[in-house]
Amino acid sequence: MAVPFVEGWDLVQTLGEGAYGEVQLAVNKRTEEAVAVKIVDMKRAMDCPDQIKKEICINKMLNHENIVKFYGHRREGSIQYLFLEYCSGGELFDRIEPDIGMPEADAQKFFHQLIAGVVYLHSLGVTHRDIKPENLLLDERDNLKISDFGLATIYKYNGRERLLNKLCGTLPYVAPEVLKRKEFHAEPVDIWSCGIVLTAMLAGELPWDQPSDTCQEYCDWKEKKIYLPPWKKIDSLPLALLLKILTEDTSSRLTVTDITKDKWYTKPLKKGIKRPWVSSGGLSDSPGGFSKHIRSDMDFSPVKSARSEEKITSHSQPEPRTGLSVWDNSPASIDKLVQGFSFSQPACPEHMLLNSQLVGTPSSSQNPWQRLVKRMTRFFLKLDATQSYDVLKEVCDKMGYIWKTGCTNQVTISTTDRRNNKLIFKANLMEMEEKILVDFRLSKGDGLEFKRHFLKIKGKLSNVVGAQKLWLPAT
Ligand code: ATP
Repeated sequence: MAVPFVEGWDLVQTLGEGAYGEVQLAVNKRTEEAVAVKIVDMKRAMDCPDQIKKEICINKMLNHENIVKFYGHRREGSIQYLFLEYCSGGELFDRIEPDIGMPEADAQKFFHQLIAGVVYLHSLGVTHRDIKPENLLLDERDNLKISDFGLATIYKYNGRERLLNKLCGTLPYVAPEVLKRKEFHAEPVDIWSCGIVLTAMLAGELPWDQPSDTCQEYCDWKEKKIYLPPWKKIDSLPLALLLKILTEDTSSRLTVTDITKDKWYTKPLKKGIKRPWVSSGGLSDSPGGFSKHIRSDMDFSPVKSARSEEKITSHSQPEPRTGLSVWDNSPASIDKLVQGFSFSQPACPEHMLLNSQLVGTPSSSQNPWQRLVKRMTRFFLKLDATQSYDVLKEVCDKMGYIWKTGCTNQVTISTTDRRNNKLIFKANLMEMEEKILVDFRLSKGDGLEFKRHFLKIKGKLSNVVGAQKLWLPAT
């Protein structure tokens, strides 16, 4: 997709992709401010123009520390650009160890922040409708930010609530009443998804494909068979909370106010106390041994917040502004980016890499931001470029994956997950400090399943995966 280039800003990396486009990291050459740019091609689907308008409109209403900040948007033909706070900590699912989860204190902290964001949204009459770890991002200080308001809608206005009836969301996270095709209240649906996120954080797996009577795991849960996984991995106190959130009867499901008074929710948990099955993280290089507190040892400079104290008056915007303005506190440089001063030639992030046949080498003049995205689904290989490509292809072939070579340094890998759903991810190979960095990114499918497959690949390559540490604990 062609990306217009704004003078003074580099598009340094693809952060992710979604149904209608992709998200790129833009960095200001002079100030090093970073902004995520969501690029949506409205021609991709009939309902896209309306949907994106709604996403922009809702984003404009929001201003909360647990919600990704919106700086503004710009339209070029059929392409919409949304300028958002850059979350350098990646997605929450990246912190969940498949089949294990994360330390309870971390899960509690993230759950507190998630609930704070949801309370705020509901106070404005906004429901997110697609809460899942892939839509929960982390900033440089590991603060959770709710992202992607593509499915969000207003359910309450001037104190008057409307019931919803649209089937939307992601099946494993969706509440049972949504599948029943009758009208339902918005708030309990978001609360249910928060319960599934908490289960994923504490057990490293999703409890069911969907909450319907055709699903055995869901029937088992309704019969309170908590001796089965994932429930048996969860401590009695958080499990008691989950029993009250994941209840089919919406009138007895906890409200956010109830949740904030819950015993586990309010229990002071000591950081560092680990459940026996949660690995220590830290500098572990073993599959799944990720530290929550990570700092790339490749960092050159601290991540600057895209916000600053600098105040500017906002410029005229095409759409009426509802609620709080977020432009009022965005720095002038970001404002210029949003306004789209000085267009020049399209820039392709790949052009920033010096290409060998396959592997792009970040040039010495390249902006250090290229290296700052703290994705944990990556490793170094102690091989040269061609060998790295060959061993990765061999492993993928052996695992029955479909392998497609894309642009110079990228391959697309497709498979099906254990629930038989499509799973597509991309691997970028980059030469860095004489080693090959293989960086994996989810393209389509379930984040936890993606991580499972990543760990399998990493395990199979263990004899050539670099022993040097990838991550340092935060100081
Ligand atoms: P979907 O089809 O899943 O709804 P989408 O097109 O709406 O996706 P997003 O979910 O907004 O796109 O973003 C896709 C991915 O891009 C995210 O999962 C995340 O990895 C990355 N991303 C999005 N926004 C940001 C941000 N502000 N900072 C860092 N990464 C981001």
